[in-house]
Amino acid sequence: MSSDYKNILLAVDFSKDSELIGQRAIDLARRYEAKLSLIHVVINLKDAFYEQIMSSLSENVEEQIIQLAKQQLHTLAQRLEIPTTNCIVELGSPKRGILKAVEEHDIDLIVMGSHGLSGWDNLLGSTADAVLHKAPCDVLAIRLSS
Ligand code: AMP
Repeated sequence: MSSDYKNILLAVDFSKDSELIGQRAIDLARRYEAKLSLIHVVINLKDAFYEQIMSSLSENVEEQIIQLAKQQLHTLAQRLEIPTTNCIVELGSPKRGILKAVEEHDIDLIVMGSHGLSGWDNLLGSTADAVLHKAPCDVLAIRLSS
């Protein structure tokens, strides 16, 4: 099996190390002459909060959050000199969103942080751990210090 990567996916949670992880992904994409895509998964508010709280929010609040996430991802892509057309925004659980994009975009390497917003209780954060166990392709967890 060839070890050349053709389609790399960078998982972005907008935590403080996102740019550093991005630089590592760019480095790999250049070495392998691979396409680099960025994904952010907006956590579905309906899954995250009680229905009561959700009903007190404006109807299109989720759409506004998705649009803000798109803008923020485009800004990061521009800083990293990646075409904004390579940006993917999904709604749902981060694990499911990342794995969906892997299938749809023929991804052969996922680059992510060992830890992000979910904290430092374990060797890996919860998203990193879940993706590592389920991904059908290689996963590079960039080791981050606390
Ligand atoms: P965590 O396991 O949640 O602490 O995060 C580890 C890494 O998973 C982060 O550094 C990101 O690369 C990725 N990640 C976490 N949450 C998301 C998200 N909502 N969308 C995309 N990637 C994410």
